[in-house]
Order: sequence, then structure tokens, then C-alpha cells
Amino acid sequence: MTDQRKRIAIVGGNFAGLTAAIKLSRRHAVTVIDPSRHFEWAPGIHEILSSVKTPQGLRLDRAAIVKQAGHRFLRDRVTVLEPAQGRLVTAGGHELAFDACIVAVGALWNTHHVPGVARHAMSFRSVADGLAIEQRLDSLVRESTPLRIVIAGGGLSGVEALGEILRRHRDDAGLSIELVESGARLLPGLPASLDADLRRICEPYAVSFRTRTTIASVSAKGVRLADGTRLRSELTLWTAGLAPPALLRESGLAPPPQVWADVHATLQSCHFDNVFAVGDAAQLPHAVGKQAYNAIDMGALAAANAVRFLAGRALKPFCRHPSRSWLRSATCRPTWSRAAPWLPARRWPVPRKASTRCSWRRWHPATC
Ligand SMILES: Cc1cc2nc3c(=O)[nH]c(=O)nc-3n(C[C@H](O)[C@H](O)[C@H](O)COP(=O)(O)OP(=O)(O)OC[C@H]3O[C@@H](n4cnc5c(N)ncnc54)[C@H](O)[C@@H]3O)c2cc1C
Repeated sequence: MTDQRKRIAIVGGNFAGLTAAIKLSRRHAVTVIDPSRHFEWAPGIHEILSSVKTPQGLRLDRAAIVKQAGHRFLRDRVTVLEPAQGRLVTAGGHELAFDACIVAVGALWNTHHVPGVARHAMSFRSVADGLAIEQRLDSLVRESTPLRIVIAGGGLSGVEALGEILRRHRDDAGLSIELVESGARLLPGLPASLDADLRRICEPYAVSFRTRTTIASVSAKGVRLADGTRLRSELTLWTAGLAPPALLRESGLAPPPQVWADVHATLQSCHFDNVFAVGDAAQLPHAVGKQAYNAIDMGALAAANAVRFLAGRALKPFCRHPSRSWLRSATCRPTWSRAAPWLPARRWPVPRKASTRCSWRRWHPATC
């Protein structure tokens, strides 16, 4: 007997995509496609740098979660998405037809085309990135090489990385850190007082902050600033900004000048009725931060709206949850379950309880 159910394809299965999958019932034929085996808890990866967390503690088996929800998981990368034809193709040669599609492909590392970044700087977007940085730090310490570090980007990721490096290496001889931010202050978008707090907390350590400063190029020996100043560095960490996946442009979901998939308040694509874009990949009519808690909420709404769309019913708009605030990277059990209630309760992999704030607080109790 042929399957009469409507087909929903979910491209990308992390915060937004997996939430959508869990919210959809078996009344629909749902396929989640993602090239990577693990769901990753990105808000905790900075704590790999201090070895407080392990990669296993931040990963869950994606196939198991999708299977538990009663859906199909395809470990593959979508290379062609043709919304008008209701069709997608994967790198592995699979072709899938869909009645509705939820696009949750997230964001990529943004090198801003600065020469040398892709080759010589380390990215900080995934568990594997965190592990590579931790190993580099450890090998520098083992070799007794001066630990000169440049962190590009004074946003949350850069500051979290700084905190974790200090947490583990603040007593290591030869440690010096330069944090370079192109904006006027650290932690743009957060309360201005945090800039001064952060500088004060770091006063006892060999940390320098350079705001309103742009990096012109990166080499194996360090970075060159736009004003010609050279900063020596054994490790350059690049946390400066996000870039959209090419699939958004190639599929017509983000026609230029758009760069992200522009959607209505209902998360339905402005260009294709049968596509909903969510999470970091989506550009809503009103500003919504590219944060995991928003991705989770968008995933849930996209699932409900895809079902409404397929049934010919009116769609509902996305409202930011009033009680949500920045997920402080906590991976303690209750926090995981509060933040992402769909995660399978028996599969908590959590090794240690800590959050960014905890990490700052632990080694500098007076401040946080
Ligand atoms: C270092 C760091 C710290 C952060 N800290 C916080 C924090 O404290 N609090 C907070 O709320 N947020 C935080 N964030 C942001 C948060 O992680 C993101 O907002 C969130 O991951 C976005 O979820 P998403 O599902 O939209 O995308 P992602 O989590 O990026 O997932 C996208 C998925 O799509 C898949 N994919 C991509 N392209 C394709 C394709 N062509 N075919 C199939 N699959 C594809 C990827 O493999 C990936 O699994 C942090 C992010 C980083 C990097």
C-alpha cells in the first residue's frame, strides 16, 4: 500500500530542525537530513577549551532522536533544493520529493575574506573546533612555547573563549591574550556596563583589549592590524561573525540582496509557500537574535505552521517567548530539559555542571 501521508523534509537537524521533527507527529512522513551524526550543544563548546566539558558531553546521537520521534533520518548534505518543484537532492545522490520543507541549515563561520584567516586562524563553531583549540593549547603548554593568543571578535563567543582559556591557563607562564574587536565596545548588543566589568575582571592577567580595531591579515606568525601593527600569536581564534550557507542563495530562498532566507512573521518563505526557514538561517521581518533558544521556538512554530499549511489553515506568527533569555550555556540536566524539552530524558550525556557565568565565577568569585 502506498504511503498517503504528506511529506515534510527537514533540512538541518540541530536546534531548530530537531525541534521541528520532534513536534511533528507520525501522521506526516517526515525526513530529517543532516550530514553530521551528532546533535551538538553549541552553547557549551567553549567549556571544551578548559576541559570542563568533553565532546561526548555536548553531543547526542541524531539518528536515535529522530527515530524515537518516529521519523526517518538521512545522514547526508542537501546540495540542491528546488522549492517550486518540491524536490531536493543530496550529495549522496538521494532525491526526495516533499509537500513542505523546513530549512534549518544554521550559519557558517565568517572569515570576512580577510587574507590568511581560513588557513591560519582557528574557527570556533563546533565541538570539533573546540577540541582542536584545546589540543593546540595543550601542545603549546607541553612544548613550553609562549602562549600568545589573539582572539578576533569581542562578542559572546570570543568572550566565552577568553574566559575558558583564562580558567585553565591563567597561571601558565608566557600566557598573553589580545582580544580584537572592530566595534566600539566589547559584547555589543549586551548591557554597556559589561565592557567595563570584563576589563576589570581581566586586569590581573596578561589580557589586552583592542576595540575599534580591524585585522587586515592573519599569518602563521600572528596577525597584522589595519594600522600596520603586528601582533605575534601562536594561536589565532576567529570568532568574528556568521555567514549564510550557500544553499539559501542557490535555492532562491535568499535572492540578492538578501543573504539569509527572508520569511514572513509566520516563518513561511517570502518566495515559496511550501518552505519554512528557521533558526540562524532565517531573516524575520523583525530582528530576532541568532540564538539557540530562538531556534528552538522557531522550530516548534515551523512544525505547527507546516501542518497548518498542508491542511489549508491560517498560519500563526512567531512571537519571542517573553521569559526566554540568553541560554547561559548550561549543560546541567535541568537546564537541558528546560531549554530543549524534546531531548530524550534517558540519554543525558552530561559530564559536569557548569555554565559560562559559572566558569567566570569559579575563578573570579567576586565579579559575576
Ligand atoms: C561558540 C558558540 C556559542 C553559542 N552560545 C550560545 C548561547 O550561550 N546561547 C544561545 O542561545 N545560543 C548560543 N549560540 C548560538 C546557537 O548555537 C545557534 O543560534 C543555534 O545553534 C542555531 O540553531 P540552528 O538549528 O538554526 O542551526 P545550527 O545549530 O547551526 O544547525 C544547523 C544544522 O544544519 C545542518 N546543515 C547545514 N547545511 C546543511 C545542508 N546543506 N544539508 C543538510 N543539513 C545541513 C548542520 O550540519 C547543522 O546540524 C552559540 C553558538 C556558538 C557557535
